Amino acid sequence: MPLYSHSQLSTYQECPLKYRFRYRDKIRRFTEGVESFLGTMVHETLKKCYDNVRFGRVSTLDNLLAQYDRLWRKEWHDSIIITREELTADDYQALGKRFIETYYQRYAPFDSDLTIGTEMRLNFALDDGGKYKLTGIIDRLSRTKDGVYQVHDYKTSAHLPGQEDVDNDRQLGLYHLGVKKKWPDIENISLIWHYLAFDRELISSRSGEEVARLANDSISLIDEISSAVHFPPIESALCQWCEYPDLCPMRKHLYQVAALPENEYLIEPGVTLVNKYAELREKASAIDKEIEKVRDALIDYAQRQQIQIITGSQNKARVVSGQRLRFPAKNKAEREELDKILKETGKWSEVSQLDTTTLTRIITDKLWDKELIDRVMQYGQLEETSSIYLSRLKDEERGELENDVSQE
Ligand code: SF4
Repeated sequence: MPLYSHSQLSTYQECPLKYRFRYRDKIRRFTEGVESFLGTMVHETLKKCYDNVRFGRVSTLDNLLAQYDRLWRKEWHDSIIITREELTADDYQALGKRFIETYYQRYAPFDSDLTIGTEMRLNFALDDGGKYKLTGIIDRLSRTKDGVYQVHDYKTSAHLPGQEDVDNDRQLGLYHLGVKKKWPDIENISLIWHYLAFDRELISSRSGEEVARLANDSISLIDEISSAVHFPPIESALCQWCEYPDLCPMRKHLYQVAALPENEYLIEPGVTLVNKYAELREKASAIDKEIEKVRDALIDYAQRQQIQIITGSQNKARVVSGQRLRFPAKNKAEREELDKILKETGKWSEVSQLDTTTLTRIITDKLWDKELIDRVMQYGQLEETSSIYLSRLKDEERGELENDVSQE
């Protein structure tokens, strides 16, 4: 069984196809979102900060920011994607600096706990037999003066989650499990998300039962992944950062046509077909609305003139008005009650398992006794209905019309 990580499990849950490209087919891409790049730069800088503290050296804020800038310039590459058109790389670089500054002001001189490790890799098994192996990297593990072990995870996201999210987060739960597996004697483990954009700590913990449940759920997920044959694409907001738009059936066409010059784009067969289809659908919907208006006018005309057939030049319209009973839909509780009444009174077979057309005929033709019809009618609603049947005029009818016109 291969080694899994939280990020692998999440990728599969977000989009099995992306998982297949990235982890099964091992298709390497060098594109990355600017948000992810910013996160890496901030993580690296905070790692350096705490690594210095371990050697008794507290960096000044200016030093830390200068290190961050140097790292940013050194690591920046052309395949970094900025999806928000109104923002530039400089905006993101400045944002990262603000995160570091806020963090520094809150925690300097970084002596409230003892750092045990930064970017600490933990490999551990989810099961006693050691079959299901996981790996993870903890941003920082520390121990407070009270003996509480703290798992710190830095977040540079622009969205602040709620307490429920931190309490249910799989990654934090797996960190807890990894620490506990490595040092079984540790009793108190605190899990901390540092939301740098909001200067907020979100703190959580896990009970023994919660961790056992998490391990079982993760084992089931790993079983599902390892036996998966189909890897369907799941389209979501995350697609805009996906590194496989050229391979994915959901994004491939967009990717291809976006690269075309405008004169080629407009004659690309897929583009023209979709445009034509949309145009026809729009016209059809406008025509449907027009038909509906004329239909209502015809019904109104027939009622006012007290006629049933309205004659046109080549066609005639027969207007049939009547009544229809509407009963509760099949999934409604009232429908079940109605079914029960019909069964109890032995009438079920007569309405062919509540064929509402047959039931309407029985009620309107009063084929049952009044008491039962009244009971059934507690569930039924009488509606006015009208239908129009259009047909070609017969030759003789057209002849009559032509005569009338010539006599005038
Ligand atoms: S583009 Fe979206 S649907 Fe396609 S593989 Fe990537 S994440 Fe999945």
